[in-house]
Amino acid sequence: MSLLEDLINLDITETGSIIAEYIWIGGSGLDVRSKARTVKAPIKSPKDLPKWNYDGSSTGQAPGEDSEVILYPQAIFKDPFRKGDNILVICDAYTPQGDPIPTNKRYAAAKIFSDPAVEKELPWFGIEQEFTLLQKEVKWPLGWPVGGFPGPQGPYYCGVGADKAWGRAIIDAHYKACIYAGIQISGINGEVMPGQWEFQVGPAVGISAGDQLWCARYILERITELAGAVLSLDPKPIEGDWNGAGCHTNYSTLSMREEGGYEVIKKAIEKLGLRHKEHIAAYGEGNERRLTGRHETADIHTFSWGVANRGASIRVGRDTEKEGKGYFEDRRPASNMDPYTVTSMVAYTTILYNP
Ligand code: ADP
Ligand code: MN
Ligand code: MN
Ligand code: MN
Repeated sequence: MSLLEDLINLDITETGSIIAEYIWIGGSGLDVRSKARTVKAPIKSPKDLPKWNYDGSSTGQAPGEDSEVILYPQAIFKDPFRKGDNILVICDAYTPQGDPIPTNKRYAAAKIFSDPAVEKELPWFGIEQEFTLLQKEVKWPLGWPVGGFPGPQGPYYCGVGADKAWGRAIIDAHYKACIYAGIQISGINGEVMPGQWEFQVGPAVGISAGDQLWCARYILERITELAGAVLSLDPKPIEGDWNGAGCHTNYSTLSMREEGGYEVIKKAIEKLGLRHKEHIAAYGEGNERRLTGRHETADIHTFSWGVANRGASIRVGRDTEKEGKGYFEDRRPASNMDPYTVTSMVAYTTILYNP
């Protein structure tokens, strides 16, 4: 090991201090930002941490003459990069007067999840984050010949081998880093389009699903930074006969998981159909390029559902149908969706909305 690596791995436990990396979402609503500060150990909950601030004029979130944005610590994870007792801190953002800033989607989501009717239903979410890895210099998918295309889709989904899977070290490093951090990452797989992968977070309860997915995205950005690849959450990175990238959101409530749950599921799907337009509007930028009715998607303008149907907006699994209870999958969200918005909207429409 080099002296540089030795120093990076120095154990600072004895000092009684730890490093807290404060993470927030920047002005595009998709860019993750972070900065670090030293705090006294031990930190057991976000409440033990001080609020902090950043220059919102540099992230497109505040005017220069009144640039301060305040970070409120909301969730903590173990830091897989610094290890030891060091932590990652997921924050949301407020004006100095205490109002959530417009890009703070967590605030409204937390409100919905703290509604007693929603809390009682213990909503679970399993989010499948699909993403594409790009070559840094040319922004073209990993493994693809520069200026050209690989052979057609078919051999790549869950594929193995040097001519089928590109970027596995990144995906595997991310997998373990997420488990270490305390994220409920439930699996990974190679995707249909070469250079595209998926990880799943869940089932996680309520607002925690969003906190965990954002932390997992942050960790992925950090690992791709180390590996010299570029992370793309574009829902259709390559036009033509190539699969897009989604963020399928698997969902269940307590009543759906209990006896008679299948009836509750059917009612929930009916309500989702009534608010299809509103959901599509909130399910990610550029999703119209992905939801074409081809490549395992449903057409963006039409709401549909079906058992085991990967061409429907909502898919119910065979097991759920057979057991008469379980969960369903909303296949519409794009890879670049905000999980706070999507999870809370699904909970709102299926639990609180009364047509
Ligand atoms: P797919 O077959 O669509 O590829 P995945 O296996 O990739 O599905 O992802 C399914 C996700 O759903 C996982 O994260 C899993 O933990 C989650 N899940 C399982 N059971 C439930 C449930 N009852 N409610 C919500 N999510 C669930
Ligand atoms: Mn999946
Ligand atoms: Mn997938
Ligand atoms: Mn899926």
